[in-house]
Amino acid sequence: MAQLIDGKAVAARVRAEVKAEVDRLKAEQGLVPGLAVVRVGEDPASKTYVTGKKKAAEEVGFRSWEHHRDSTVSQDELLALVRRLNEDPAVHGVLVQLPLPRHIDPDVIISAVRPEKDVDGFHPLNAGNLVLGRPATRACTPLGVMRLLEEIGCEPSGKRAVVVGRSNIVGKPMALMLLQRNATVTLCHSKSDLPSEVSRADILVVAAGVRELVKGEWIKPGAVVIDVGMNRKEEDGKLVGDVEFQAAAERASFITPVPGGVGPMTIAMLIRNTLEAAVRGGGPSSA
Ligand code: NAP
Repeated sequence: MAQLIDGKAVAARVRAEVKAEVDRLKAEQGLVPGLAVVRVGEDPASKTYVTGKKKAAEEVGFRSWEHHRDSTVSQDELLALVRRLNEDPAVHGVLVQLPLPRHIDPDVIISAVRPEKDVDGFHPLNAGNLVLGRPATRACTPLGVMRLLEEIGCEPSGKRAVVVGRSNIVGKPMALMLLQRNATVTLCHSKSDLPSEVSRADILVVAAGVRELVKGEWIKPGAVVIDVGMNRKEEDGKLVGDVEFQAAAERASFITPVPGGVGPMTIAMLIRNTLEAAVRGGGPSSA
């Protein structure tokens, strides 16, 4: 049976590391990292995510603000808010919770966030720098996966890594981060021959958003399996991943549970990215 990767415990450790650093920055430089979260409309999932992000920010000693706008807010009004946060020296990280209402183009809003304050790592400059292998703020979920691999002593170099899903927020940056660590990477999507690609993976990361898409019998014995998927079961409302967990756990060496695997890491890495933005931005934030 595979060993479980306890994302909850690792995420708690990341947050504790950040808190220790925040305490030091406050004492030595009077610097308090600040995270501003923008939420539009009444999407219940967005509300839950934003509450979680704000809570985590406060627990590590950040200042945090939630700017909530009605779903009728115009794109120009939202742009004006983002620009105001860009200029605010107390704010080191700006996050616009997606999805946005249909009349607002998320690309326009994401591109308006100053790249140094883009703690989600979604701005084209940060995404482009990742492609080029240059320093950049990395997208939180794949960054969290890299930390989990590190925690279990899994060195990607020379290994065959397969990523299922090619979204801009998970799959693509995940593939690039693994490539940067010298894995041989295959990026799969809905037109791929999944059973054959998955069966060759030493490291498998699945982010497709399809309940139990990856069958246990496809897993290479000894593989490390990271399940990013979060799907709500219609029967009982419980969360389930993109991998057939029980059967996969019989073949893998390590596997993340859903929930309690990758999920908690996303917020932890957002907190880490905000700390780093504050350190780069510097200056006491007493506003
Ligand atoms: P997304 O934007 O919907 O992208 C899904 C990707 O999966 C697409 O590239 C799609 O391929 C591929 N795919 C869909 N069906 C497939 C199939 N049958 N075979 C192979 N590939 C298939 O999703 P996302 O935003 O990346 O999220 C993916 C999952 O991760 C969701 O369950 C989401 O809730 C979860 N998630 C979790 C966290 C976390 O913190 N744990 C964070 C973000 C996302 P095409 O490009 O060909 O359509």
